[in-house]
Parts: sequence; C-alpha cells; structure tokens
Amino acid sequence: MVFFTPNGGGMTLQDVTMQFALRECSTSLSTSAPRAGSTRGRLAVLDDEAMFCEFVGEAADLSGYEAFFTTRPEEFFRHIEGRPAAVIVLDLLMPGIDGMQALRRLAEEGVRANILLASGADSRTLDSAISLGRAQGLNMTGIIRKPIDLDALRQLLESQVDVVNPVSVPHLSAALSGDELTLHYQPIVDLRSGTAVGVEALVRWHHPTLGLVMPAAFVPVAEKGGLIGALTDWALAEAVKQAAAWRQAGIILKIAVNVSNASVPDPDLPERLERMCNEAGVPQSAIALELTESAATGDPARAMELFVRLRSKGFDLSIDDFGTGYSSLAPLQRLPFTSLKIDRSFVSSVLKSEASASIVLAIMSLTHALGLKCIAEGVESPEILAFLKNNGCDLAQGYHIAKPMPAAEIPAFCRV
Ligand code: C2E
Ligand code: MG
Ligand code: MG
Repeated sequence: MVFFTPNGGGMTLQDVTMQFALRECSTSLSTSAPRAGSTRGRLAVLDDEAMFCEFVGEAADLSGYEAFFTTRPEEFFRHIEGRPAAVIVLDLLMPGIDGMQALRRLAEEGVRANILLASGADSRTLDSAISLGRAQGLNMTGIIRKPIDLDALRQLLESQVDVVNPVSVPHLSAALSGDELTLHYQPIVDLRSGTAVGVEALVRWHHPTLGLVMPAAFVPVAEKGGLIGALTDWALAEAVKQAAAWRQAGIILKIAVNVSNASVPDPDLPERLERMCNEAGVPQSAIALELTESAATGDPARAMELFVRLRSKGFDLSIDDFGTGYSSLAPLQRLPFTSLKIDRSFVSSVLKSEASASIVLAIMSLTHALGLKCIAEGVESPEILAFLKNNGCDLAQGYHIAKPMPAAEIPAFCRV
C-alpha cells in the first residue's frame, strides 16, 4: 500500500493513521529492498511506534536510502553492528530503553552515523539531548518533530547524505588548479545605516557535469585530503583581487574569507596574505578572516600567535558560527577577535524560540561588553531584521537581505 507519493506534500502522520489502522504493522525489524537508485546508504530507525518507523522508512526509501526499522532496541543494535548505517533515527522516549541510554550505547560502540532525534518533547529538552549526544562525540545532525510533516522530513533526510559524493581529492585538486572554483559574495549590512559595508566570500564549484556544487560537499574533502591550505590560499587571493577591482570602481567593502581550522597551524599565512594585499594595493583592514570557536583548541599557543600576528598586520578576525562549539568564553578574552557572528541556527529561530532569543540577546550584550562588533547571520525575514535592529545588533547577513551572488551582481546591490 502506498500511503504517500514523492510529492505528496503536507501529509502528516495523523493523515495516514486511518490507512495504517487497516493493516497489521510489523513491530519487528523490516528492511526495504535496495532500489536501483538507492544511493544514500543505509538508514536505521528505532522507535516504539511501529507506524512512525514505517512512515520514516518509506520516506527514507523514497529519498534514496536503504531503510531498516524496528521497535526493538536489541534488534536495532544487532543490525547496525553488522551493517553500519549512514543515518540513524532515534526516538527520545521509549519504554525499556530511553533515547539517552541508546545514545550512550551508540557512543560506546563508536558509531559515526548522522543521528536524528525524533520526539514530540519540547525544544529545550530536544536541544539538551542533542548537546548531550554531541558531548559524547556523536554526530547529532537534527530533530524530527512529532507529529511529522512529510515535506520537512524528506528535506531533512535528503540533507543528511549526498546522493553520491561527487568529490574526490584528485578531482578537487584539478578544480583548484583549473578555473572551476569561484567565490560568491553575500552582503553584510550595517543595521544603523542600512547600507552594505561588507560581504562574506563563499566558495562554489562549477562542476562540468554536476553543476553548482556547494562547499559542504567539498570543503571537508579538502580538509581530509591535504588540500585545505591550497583552498584557503586560492580564496584569499581571489578575495583580495576582487577587493582591488571593487575599490577601483569606488565600491568599498570589507571582504570576509572563511579560514578552516585545518589552515590555522600554517605559520606563513600572515605574511602571504600581507604580500597579496600589498601587491593588489588593498589595505589589510579590507580583509576579515572568519574562524570558528574551535580554531584555537588544537594548539592554543600556536593559534594565539597566528591570530595576534594577523591582527597586528591589520586584518580583522571574526569568530564564525558563535554559540555552536563547546569552547569556554576564555578565548573571547584572550584572543584578538574584532567581531563575532551569531550562528544562524539561533538567529533564524529568534522569533520562534524564547531560548534562541535569550541566547541572541546574551551574545549581543557579551559582544558589546567586550568591545567587539556583533554580526547576525541567517536573517531570513523582515521581522528578524527588525528584532536585531531594535536590540542593538551591529551588522546582519541573511537570505532576507540578499543571498550569496556572483561578484558581478554586487555593484547593483550596493547601489539600491
Ligand atoms: P558560514 O561561513 O557560516 O557561511 C554562511 C552560510 O550560511 C553560507 O552557506 C550561506 O549561504 C548560508 N546562509 C546565509 N544566510 C542564510 C540564511 O538566511 N538562511 C540560511 N538557511 N542560510 C544562510 P554556504 O555558502 O553553503 O557555506 C557553508 C559553509 O561552508 C560556510 O559556513 C563555511 O563554513 C564553509 N565555506 C564556504 N566557503 C568557504 C571557503 O572559501 N573556505 C572554507 N574553508 N570554508 C568555506
Ligand atoms: Mg563564515
Ligand atoms: Mg557562519
């Protein structure tokens, strides 16, 4: 019995209850046959509601996973031991074993799958469970809220694993030395003046057969495959060239470039970047480097030295995705950052979640108390923009203001 179609949008679990009532739901393990187009790997579901298992299993199957699901914890653990899953969907509240016990067991077994928690619990309980899973080293990648919305479920499942990872190290290496990589730029506006004062440079790969490939698909490959230094250098050189071209056209924008943690140990980075700026006639203050909270955790002394050298040469330093790492607040005091970007997960939910609003306000006040500028990323609506403006945020970036765009479109955006 088919109870939804690939585009059967808006259907919820309740909608199919009647149909399921007519058939006996298996409570033991079921596995979907791998379909010809099954390309995302295995997805395992453990939930005490058989109907939920089957619903998720069907959606996973349609999204290209080979799904298996069960209501019995022991069966679940036996199964994933023999056949590791790429994605695990776990109920937070089950009789017999609760989700937290199951997470601990997954961590003890060194499971590397992406884990989605399913529950009707309130957001704070779910967020705490996600944090606890992360603290145990698990890849906690999302939440499936009950009752389920089919569209949201399929979107979430499809964002977990690429259909086929199109990227190999030699492939990316060739792209880096050819002309397939490009930077798109997303405007950053000053909330007081309402004008664009900067842009974030975001790498894109124009792949000859796959089309536009996003950084999530290849930055991790560059990090693991020893290409991250080359990618960082390429992005910095491109951004400096672009800054020079815009300045010649009278467009003065600070360009922020993402620097992966894997590039932090590179001791020559400050000098190389300074040379690039000098050769292009771009002041160092026109370039900001975005690093994440965990950039200083590998070798703190070395990271500190690099940051101080970059800062003393006049480059801006921004903490990206703030609020998502596990670091203490000490680096904020010790490291010479100039701005802090509030992670978009908090910003985009600021009007929906009281906890997110409190976090955003607390980060803004902390940032200002430390004399740093506060940038909110993930501004997806005029209401969020107004909230940030009314509460004194300095700068904002997000789809509501503008999506990342090719360099050629930036002058027109700045003129509006
Ligand atoms: P990031 O540095 O946090 O960049 C912001 C990401 O959020 C971008 O995704 C941007 O398109 C997206 N974004 C901006 N506003 C919104 C919004 O309102 N809603 C939503 N849903 N998303 C928004 P993108 O371009 O896919 O980049 C993803 C990540 O890839 C970046 O996160 C950054 O960590 C990494 N990355 C991008 N370019 C580079 C690069 O040149 N080098 C390195 N090392 N990493 C890069
Ligand atoms: Mg960034
Ligand atoms: Mg960010």
